[in-house]
Amino acid sequence: MQLVAGIDLGGTAINYTLLDERGAFLIAELCEHPARSIEGPEICLTQIVEGLKLAAERAGVPLSDIVAAGLDTPGPASAAGVFSREGGTNFKHAAWAGYDIRAGLEQRLGIPVAYLNDGNAAALWGHASLFGPSGRETSISAIVGTGLGGGVIVDGNVVKGRLGFGGELGHVYIAYCAIPEIEGMQPRCNCGRVGDLESLCSLTAIQNNLLPHFLARDPGHPLHALARAGQMNKAAKQVRGLAEQGDRLCREVFRVQAQALGLFFDAMVNTFDPDALIVGGGAIETGAAFQRWFMNEIHAGMPTQRTEQAGIPLHLMPHGDTAGARGAAIEAQKMLAARSGAASGRF
Ligand SMILES: [Zn+2]
Repeated sequence: MQLVAGIDLGGTAINYTLLDERGAFLIAELCEHPARSIEGPEICLTQIVEGLKLAAERAGVPLSDIVAAGLDTPGPASAAGVFSREGGTNFKHAAWAGYDIRAGLEQRLGIPVAYLNDGNAAALWGHASLFGPSGRETSISAIVGTGLGGGVIVDGNVVKGRLGFGGELGHVYIAYCAIPEIEGMQPRCNCGRVGDLESLCSLTAIQNNLLPHFLARDPGHPLHALARAGQMNKAAKQVRGLAEQGDRLCREVFRVQAQALGLFFDAMVNTFDPDALIVGGGAIETGAAFQRWFMNEIHAGMPTQRTEQAGIPLHLMPHGDTAGARGAAIEAQKMLAARSGAASGRF
């Protein structure tokens, strides 16, 4: 049996999956190993390889059955897996600057390695969950987490772009003035823009923009205690749970996020005429009733579509916590298929 591995390198954990030739994932749940990316490439890659051995053991397969691997990481990195010279949040160690993590891992493992950024990997999984790993459809995935990531899949392939920044959906400007509840707000993003999708739809947006805005209009709200103590980050993390319990202010925060997504998806509908729109990420790791409410609010936030496009479906991404690893594994399988196609002269 030939297998490919999916390796999702996150800030604190590496998550693994294994995918067989029939398209079955041999590890259904989270399979995690601590990430040590802050200690630099040498230690981090050793850790990735160790974790892969444990994952193979857990699935009951010999390591030698794994013939290729897909790796996904947070950026900024090129489409080929070379980190930015400026480094990134989890890649501040000086040795990461300009480091080719795809080639580094390929050398350690001795098998071919494919690379995607984490948002694009999750988007590829979202796509494959609907259309199968070789589906030729077009989909747009928005992943609402600490920031807003995601990806664009056209004809079944990830749009990586010229330098690897394809699908950086969080920094796309949206017409936020069309959202009535936030009149007067200047939603600032960490990237410096005012009014991009991440500035209104992410945990960071809740902390920096949405919660301060709505708390100022509700002096008796219980989250003021944390805000006054300078713990807006802790307060922001409570918003999802409170919204789910029906707290009015926290529901408004989520309604604004949904409306921002609605405006963004509307732009994507007119740009790509896609087969599906997909939402994933920590924001919607909630009970089914809250998910349904949130999805309905996204629909409500979308301007009216032309009749032909009114039925473009909006889906929740399944198995969201393993999305990166699953998408990375699918990318590895696509790489192998392309190589065998090239060898037989089909390309
Ligand atoms: Zn931004």
